[in-house]
Amino acid sequence: MTADDIRGVDFHCHLDLYPDFPANIQECEQAGIATLAVTTTPKAYLRNEELCRSTVHVRAALGLHPQLVAQRADELGLFAKLLPRTRYVGEVGLDAGRQHYGSFTQQIEVFTVILQLCAKAAGKILSVHSIRSAGQVLDLVEKHLPVERGRVVLHWFSGSASELRRAVELGCYFSVNTAMLSTPSGRATISAIPLDRLLTETDGPFVQIGGKAVRPVDTVSLASALAAKLNHDQEGLRTQLVLNLQCLLAVP
Ligand code: MN
Repeated sequence: MTADDIRGVDFHCHLDLYPDFPANIQECEQAGIATLAVTTTPKAYLRNEELCRSTVHVRAALGLHPQLVAQRADELGLFAKLLPRTRYVGEVGLDAGRQHYGSFTQQIEVFTVILQLCAKAAGKILSVHSIRSAGQVLDLVEKHLPVERGRVVLHWFSGSASELRRAVELGCYFSVNTAMLSTPSGRATISAIPLDRLLTETDGPFVQIGGKAVRPVDTVSLASALAAKLNHDQEGLRTQLVLNLQCLLAVP
């Protein structure tokens, strides 16, 4: 995979939740969008692995979504069993939003085990959810997954400015999306992220543009919008995003 082949980076997309999953993978392959296909349960990972076996630009990540921990914590054993088969982990993390706060203690237990398993395995790259829980997520990452044991990419980060600085110090990357660009707080977050830690994502199909689920190819226009926001030239920012991805993937 060379920088010239990559036209966009989508480091957090639920490809398997679109109606046309295989076609979606082909679209990423043909358009040259380096895509991380995150999953919400270990059982769902298996089909992703199968479809991404020979892809150039799409990689499957093993996940256990914090919003599903209440129902799916029993799949943690399967998670541990499948972990040696992939370098990528996600979607994992914590969600302290009102709807999911009831399982927060259980989420902490599950995320702690996931971080410990990743630290033991070493070299994993994680796409991490942290709604209303950035501080707790960073506490657990600091304690269980030091930077030399793995890398964390904070997806759709919405923590405070000081939490963002702490995440940078802990070696985290950030994947940002179109929805973040449309709110003042999201734009403030984007501006505060060091340029060498920035990645793009869609979080499709959950994020929509004009009533339609955003697709990985839309990261090309997202990068242009980010360039305008950050006063950067378009080609320079695209190159930077690809370089950031390559630096992240170069972690031993
Ligand atoms: Mn997601």
